Amino acid sequence: MTDADGRHPRPLTRIVATLGPRTDSPLVLRRTIAAGTSIVRLNFSHGSLDDHAERLAAVRAVESELGVAVAVLGDLRGPRIRIGRVAPRGVRLRVGEEVEFRGQASAGRRTAAVLPVTEPRILEDLRVGHRVLIADGTIRLRVLRASRGRATASVEVGGIVHAGKGLNLPDSRVSLPLLGAHEEDCTRWAVASRLDFLAMSFVRHAEDLRSLRRLIDRCGGRRSGWRPQIVAKVERPEAIESIDSLVRAADAVMVARGDLGSEMGLEAVPRLQRRILSAAQACGRPTIVATEVLASMQRHAQPSRAEVGDLARAVLDDADAIMLSGETAVGRHPALVVSTAATVLARAEQWRAEDARASPTPQSAGRATAALAHAAWHLARDLRAVMVLVDARDREIVRELGQNGLAVPIVPVGDEPEEIRALLLHRGVLPLVIPRGIDREAAVDLARRMARDRFGLAAGEGPTVVVGRLVHGGVRPVPPLRGDRR
Ligand code: PEP
Repeated sequence: MTDADGRHPRPLTRIVATLGPRTDSPLVLRRTIAAGTSIVRLNFSHGSLDDHAERLAAVRAVESELGVAVAVLGDLRGPRIRIGRVAPRGVRLRVGEEVEFRGQASAGRRTAAVLPVTEPRILEDLRVGHRVLIADGTIRLRVLRASRGRATASVEVGGIVHAGKGLNLPDSRVSLPLLGAHEEDCTRWAVASRLDFLAMSFVRHAEDLRSLRRLIDRCGGRRSGWRPQIVAKVERPEAIESIDSLVRAADAVMVARGDLGSEMGLEAVPRLQRRILSAAQACGRPTIVATEVLASMQRHAQPSRAEVGDLARAVLDDADAIMLSGETAVGRHPALVVSTAATVLARAEQWRAEDARASPTPQSAGRATAALAHAAWHLARDLRAVMVLVDARDREIVRELGQNGLAVPIVPVGDEPEEIRALLLHRGVLPLVIPRGIDREAAVDLARRMARDRFGLAAGEGPTVVVGRLVHGGVRPVPPLRGDRR
């Protein structure tokens, strides 16, 4: 989807696109990034580290070819419990039927009444009355009897169970380690490959995130000084119980709505999304709204109206980013999915900006950097600025601007690609890498021209607000560039 001028719209909300077999074609990857992807996700639940290394190299090649910054997020699988080997055509479960769950090895003769699980230890955590959900909660059972590593459950919602389908146990305190051998291997690789973000699945409380920080240090972070920013995936009921301390311990937060919906009920998701985003926003952590964002586009060329509404909801909830999963990894048209998301987000942002109630005045609470950012915020809004320019090292200013619903793009400039990528999760950020060693005045001039060429920000159509170290720690509106109108 393009706008009336044939350009891709550039929403302020960032787009995270999951890579997979479908984006392995260099042409598809280039188009998917060019359509507006800021961050790509390598999902460690699928594929080998060799596959991920190839994808990372391909992203870096497209990044330099297109002259855009792309951050990379590795997503740790965590203790995902799956159905073990069953008959190739699956096992049909009928309502009211009794099913026994067993460990893989002891499954013995495979009958319709026995389902093996890949992590037999979880059977110790099941109690009478607990729910067992299979395949994102589409098949549901309740435990009738549980003892000595075996559990029998009655089918409440039936269906066909295939090998490898995921299990959710929303009522059980699962005792599996969050960071097993697979996570350790992936973390070591993520640090060595200098990934920008590392997401942790099934986080329960702040201590889980601290263990990942320690693991990062043990896996080369301490030696190299490279520590990916940690994204907490909120999907467990325990995480909701401790949400305020959990988000403070994270660098960014993902509303992982797939597992969240299975664990806590689909009807709870809109409220929980708001709750999680508010907690993260209260302490300045950037946020990602994930899963089934444009799910129908995995097959179709058009989104459903419900999906459009869901994306608009993410804008109204002030999410910094939305994430595409199967839509880009294995869907039919990844680039179209990204450009559709960009169009819908840009439109929702437009009408949100027109709504005066949506621009509350930011509060600085006596902090000098926040006050400076807010001065820039007011100037940009009141003068109808085209962009706010800021040095990429002024991370606090970028964060403050992004957090306060500024409807003007924030353009951080710097000569360190890694410093630039670290900012890509903040709403409204369109960063630019400029050559080393140029003075401030020249940097402002060059950045305005680059923003015009890369992002279509016509610096002749309004002033640019420059803030922070680019203007000796102050804030200054710079008049429109003469002769630079669209
Ligand atoms: C989710 O559950 O919504 C999610 C993002 O996690 P995963 O894709 O790893 O299941």
